Amino acid sequence: MLPLIVANWKMQLSDADAVTVAGEVAGSPIADAELVLCPSFTALSRVAEAVRGSAIALGAQDCAADTRGALTGEVSSEDLRALGCRYVLVGHSERRQRLGETDAMIGKKLRATTAAGLCPILCVGESFEERTEGKREAILTRQLDVLRGLSLVGTQQLCVAYEPVWAIGTGHAAAPSDAAQAHAFIVDTVREVAGAAVADRVRVLYGGSVSPENVAAFLAEQHVAGVLVGTASQSAARLRAIVAAAGRDRRI
Ligand code: PEP
Repeated sequence: MLPLIVANWKMQLSDADAVTVAGEVAGSPIADAELVLCPSFTALSRVAEAVRGSAIALGAQDCAADTRGALTGEVSSEDLRALGCRYVLVGHSERRQRLGETDAMIGKKLRATTAAGLCPILCVGESFEERTEGKREAILTRQLDVLRGLSLVGTQQLCVAYEPVWAIGTGHAAAPSDAAQAHAFIVDTVREVAGAAVADRVRVLYGGSVSPENVAAFLAEQHVAGVLVGTASQSAARLRAIVAAAGRDRRI
């Protein structure tokens, strides 16, 4: 399977800039990787237009926990699918930490995405304090419990992004071998809480200061099926360099 590169543009690009970056990336060949762009909600339609005809897929950065209802300002996973999204980020650490998302909310969002036929990218990872206190596995176990009882329909997939919070946007990526240990633990935990059928289909991505320089080292590790990229994905040149490097020297 080709490595999955997911670009999380957060709220960093204006809609006009998102369309420009998407158009520039769509204009280059993407032979040896799958690429997903996650612009902000307001840019989704125009980015979908900019990548039409290319192999680039579209993702959203969040969705509502319910499919329909009196929920002012929320965005339904069904509507995201209708706009052309195939992926949705769920439980990004910025939403957990700065917007108060709880595991209960994240569990509901996860089910809303799968019910709409989308592939959730569940983001998990420990903070610096949790890591230094030796709590990484306990945190991952708690965050992955939202997958308990999950079943996937047909060819539906699940992604989990291991994103140590201390590595996000800091320029200090985890060591690839350290990330690989977390990924192995995540696969085992998914098997335990959601069963073998889900675990066999999960793609575990690494996120946290991924760059064109380090991406190949992550993808060379076992159980690293792709990367979730924030800062370095927000320029077309850097994103293209990541995609090119991901396709080279790949060992999985
Ligand atoms: C992210 O926001 O998910 C992320 C990984 O950001 P960065 O690549 O900037 O660390």
